[in-house]
Amino acid sequence: MTWPFSKRSRATRPLSFGRRSRFPVRWLLTALAACALAIGGGYAWTAVSGSISLNPLDNPAAASQLAPPQSLGEALDRSIKNFQQQVSAREQDIVLALGGPPQPFVGKLVRDQPLASGEKVVALTFDDGPAPIYTEKVLEILKRENVKATFFMVGKMVQAFPAIGQRVASEGHVLANHSWSHRYHRFAPAAAASEINQTTNIIQAKTGQTVRLYRPPGGVLNNGMDTYAQSQGYASIMWGTDTGDWRRPPAATIVNRVMNTIHPGDIVLMHDGGGDRHNTVAALPIMISQLKAKGYRFVTIPELLQLRARETQRSTAQATTGSRQPTTVPAVANPAG
Ligand SMILES: [Zn+2]
Repeated sequence: MTWPFSKRSRATRPLSFGRRSRFPVRWLLTALAACALAIGGGYAWTAVSGSISLNPLDNPAAASQLAPPQSLGEALDRSIKNFQQQVSAREQDIVLALGGPPQPFVGKLVRDQPLASGEKVVALTFDDGPAPIYTEKVLEILKRENVKATFFMVGKMVQAFPAIGQRVASEGHVLANHSWSHRYHRFAPAAAASEINQTTNIIQAKTGQTVRLYRPPGGVLNNGMDTYAQSQGYASIMWGTDTGDWRRPPAATIVNRVMNTIHPGDIVLMHDGGGDRHNTVAALPIMISQLKAKGYRFVTIPELLQLRARETQRSTAQATTGSRQPTTVPAVANPAG
């Protein structure tokens, strides 16, 4: 193999200190030029920063730069820190694209927590499917309304109705683990592992979607399955609003429960499987319409967790930079409307 730089180029020629050397002059001039640039840049920075009209809450990296650096060393420190923040945000995007929760939620229990920003987002979740008729009707409504949701699937239902599971994935929704058999009793460690692993395996095999979210059947956290799931890095997802739709109340009751408790960052619990879900299907378009009228937009659970993770990052960045910005930021209008 030919070494591409075998012919020694100007760039790779070693510096010659032995000859009548122009080295000190050249490097002195370079150093002086660098200093002039740095000083000039500092003035330019001061002049420009007064006119920057960005919202620092939208860009913690920019916010930390609003004050001019005290020294070149400090400027370098800031550049490195900003770069690390950007890499961290990019890593989270990649993890999200692979179906995983952002880093702060890996192996954690996720309970309802209103978004401090007041951003009007809501995550619709459907449990116990995939099921004939109801999952399909839910999918039709979601497609018509251009809403993406999260489906916590029961492993044995995926085994029985793989084509419906595939359709949920192909229409852009997030698939998640709701155990294999949907039982509440105490599981021995091996059985708990089997409930979780079998379900993830079949969802991934039938749909190709990576599964990193778990919801405990019945919200039971102490029967061994949740402990196992979190030990494997799953985020356990609870909810903010329980529609109680599994008791089959009238559609109007389901809608009213949501509209009475909805808040920024809410997670709404519904069911597309496990029984007759006519009322859930009837309630869904009314609920979506009323939520849209209130200014809400719809996110999947990974998207919601990313919003929460970014809020935490902002709070941490504000705390470490000694900013006087409050950690709880005021409500902002939803640009999506
Ligand atoms: Zn369930």
